[in-house]
Amino acid sequence: MAASAFQAPGGGRQGGPNVAQIEKVKDNLYMITGGGGNTAAFITDGGVVIVDTKLANWGQAILDKVRTVSDKPVSMIINTHTHPDHTGSNEFFGPSVDIVAHENTKMYMQNMDAFKGAGARFLPKRTFKDTMKIGSGKDEIDLYYFGRAHTGGDAWVLFKTPRVVHAGDAFAGKAIPLVDTGNGGSMVDYGKTLAKAFGGLKDYDTIITGHSTLMKPADLKEYADFNNDFVAWVQSEMKAGKTADQAAGEYKIPEKYKGYGMGGDLFGGFKGRVSTAYAELGKK
Ligand SMILES: [Zn+2]
Repeated sequence: MAASAFQAPGGGRQGGPNVAQIEKVKDNLYMITGGGGNTAAFITDGGVVIVDTKLANWGQAILDKVRTVSDKPVSMIINTHTHPDHTGSNEFFGPSVDIVAHENTKMYMQNMDAFKGAGARFLPKRTFKDTMKIGSGKDEIDLYYFGRAHTGGDAWVLFKTPRVVHAGDAFAGKAIPLVDTGNGGSMVDYGKTLAKAFGGLKDYDTIITGHSTLMKPADLKEYADFNNDFVAWVQSEMKAGKTADQAAGEYKIPEKYKGYGMGGDLFGGFKGRVSTAYAELGKK
């Protein structure tokens, strides 16, 4: 999701310090919540690897929580995608920290004001296209790109030994997804990309989502089905001659996906998602 959905950080106290929460996921791996997207902190021999840096001005809150579990320096940042609630505090960790992201994410970040001029020092220094292996043994991290979904540069981060995946906002939570078409996202490809991720990621049992609770591989499979079913429904509405607006007014979360949300107001809200699918399908 993008930053504007998260305008009330700070643990609820206006003007107070930003305070995050930390929970242990596995040995050496923690999830830090609050202030934007979920951050992972992986304690390796070479330092602490941070996945996603939340909104701007949340660096100290992240570091305060890291310090409750490790004295090691933060040595690397992995950005799952370009949005400012996932890249906003890169700067806090200083220009010497290694920063890694998908090659498209670097390109999208270069268009953000925060990463122009002096901010360019906090752009990814290393990028990958399909996969990248970082570290070895118990510290191994594997990065994957499975195609367009939330953006056109969504990285999937596998912490090999802890058997945990950070999915970023490709799997932000159980809801109609936000699709940032301006940064390469695709509503029509979304479910296909999730299915590829489900098929391509091996040997893990836990998923850190972009903005929700921890999930299981079966939840990812279900979320792929949910998105593919959604696009199939859009196709049937188009076939029936409905406009995008008419279709959007008719949609109900299918019974088998009870509890799923309709997604946030960003990128045109639910109607925007239907219109995006209509536009994409119309071009095929
Ligand atoms: Zn996002």
